[in-house]
Amino acid sequence: MEKKPFLAESKRLLDMMINSIYTQKEIFLRELISNSSDAIDKIYYKALTDDSLTFDQDSYFIEIKPDKAARTLSIADTGIGMTREELETNLGTIAKSGSLAFKQENESKDGRDIIGQFGVGFYASFMVADKVTVVSRALGEEQAWRWESEGADGYTIEPADKAAIGTEITLHIKPDTEDESYEDYLNEYRLKALVKKYSDFIRYPIKMELTSSRPKEGAEGEFEEFSEQQTINSMVPIWRKNKSELKAEDYESFYHEKRYGFDKPLAHVHVSADGAVVYQAILYVPETIPFDYYTKEYEKGLELYSRGVLIMNKCADLLPDYFSFVKGMVDSESLSLNISRELLQHDRQLKQIAKNIESKIKGALQGMLKNEREKYEKFFGSFGRQLKFGVYSDYGAHKETLQDLLLFTSSKDKALVTLAEYVSRMPEDQKYIYYASGSSAERIEKLPQTELVLDKGYEILYFTDDIDEFAIRMLTSYKDKEFRSVSSGDLGIEDERKPEDEAADEENKPLFEAMAGLLGGKVSAVRASKRLRKHPVCFATEGDLTIEMEKVLAAMPD
Ligand code: ADP
Ligand code: MG
Repeated sequence: MEKKPFLAESKRLLDMMINSIYTQKEIFLRELISNSSDAIDKIYYKALTDDSLTFDQDSYFIEIKPDKAARTLSIADTGIGMTREELETNLGTIAKSGSLAFKQENESKDGRDIIGQFGVGFYASFMVADKVTVVSRALGEEQAWRWESEGADGYTIEPADKAAIGTEITLHIKPDTEDESYEDYLNEYRLKALVKKYSDFIRYPIKMELTSSRPKEGAEGEFEEFSEQQTINSMVPIWRKNKSELKAEDYESFYHEKRYGFDKPLAHVHVSADGAVVYQAILYVPETIPFDYYTKEYEKGLELYSRGVLIMNKCADLLPDYFSFVKGMVDSESLSLNISRELLQHDRQLKQIAKNIESKIKGALQGMLKNEREKYEKFFGSFGRQLKFGVYSDYGAHKETLQDLLLFTSSKDKALVTLAEYVSRMPEDQKYIYYASGSSAERIEKLPQTELVLDKGYEILYFTDDIDEFAIRMLTSYKDKEFRSVSSGDLGIEDERKPEDEAADEENKPLFEAMAGLLGGKVSAVRASKRLRKHPVCFATEGDLTIEMEKVLAAMPD
């Protein structure tokens, strides 16, 4: 039998493929299953216009068969199959996608669920197999064909026998090496886990024989093993379902099933976008902080699917840092399966989705703040710090997005307030939004600097988090009201200085100088103050940094 060489380009591409496009060998299964799903879709689309064809849902499926003795794994489908020519062109030429051609020919029939279009997925088989055999019988053909290849040096084609329409791909699994157990791909539980992970939402049943045990009949306390064909995938993903069909419990169990967290999420958002970019997303605001959340180890990101097939576990580009606590997934028809991380970063569609998602999250948080205050305060207790970091980061570029989501403890009842609430309660003559920094509300209350402001009947925001003051510096003002630290030299409410004050300063000059001298240069000057009531003395700053900020900066590693 004549062996046909792959085209030269194909050879090089094949090497490149196997060694670089895919970082994980296990995705070969996802690629082959996607191809089978495409092949069944194609019959479905044909049946839409061809009266001689009926599409009976039950007779279309994908079957996975590991054979440990023969060291082979086969993936069979009842899809459209391939003619001899199609085997040559689609499998003999790398980067040739029969599915893309099909989509182009059938544009009017809406083939948008078909996954393939790059013509490289099939070759992922060679990451785990040293020989691949494809037996296929195309729809409408009597003759089946066997295509076989051992990798880069070419392939053979010969007639074969096959009773039913469809394709069966047999992978001759590579021998184990020291760092890779290929045999693992013959283990039914490993295979089941891979199907669950990547292909759970393929719309056709993926079947496999699974061994389980059951109580032995007539023999008390004894068990027997038996095997049974099971459908492994759940087929209809929750995000494709109608929101009205779903209950809060459904979203919660999906959250747990996906291991987004062990807590009960505070909120979920289900997005079904049908505009310029088509995508579905389910997003969650967790209740508790992941143990590594405020460390470098924490990895943000959403699961990314392309037409129901998982392509990335944690797509970081979908979430801004300040919403890094959000968990969930996105499925889009506008993205391709084998797109690499580098390409993804520049993908316009992905950017659009990320932007959209950001505003959905913001909307959900605003809704919670407005309608479920207690819940929001709980949320803010866990992740508020991250929002404040967000205000501070990138020189305040995100302040518009975030400022209305912030909460601070106020001197009024020591309750949490938003900036909008603070401003709405400001008496008419109050010029600034006052704040005081300290390690706790109790300590701040004892600060002499707060006296004058409180005496005036103004509210003070208590900044007890290191980041508070830095974040507020980025805001500079809120609704045209500037922020002002109570320890600032100018509070805008001191009484006018009168000539006799100047005289008193002059008179006490030797005393003040002696005091400053005693403090040994730790203060720049000592002055008479008009802002104190019960306390004899307080610190005030004149420069840009407040005492609290200096403390934080001094504590930072160089
Ligand atoms: P893609 O799926 O991106 O088109 P692949 O390398 O995965 O690229 O597959 C190449 C082509 O081979 C497909 O487009 C399709 O025409 C054909 N093909 C692969 N697997 C099957 C299958 N199981 N049944 C029918 N055709 C298939
Ligand atoms: Mg494919």
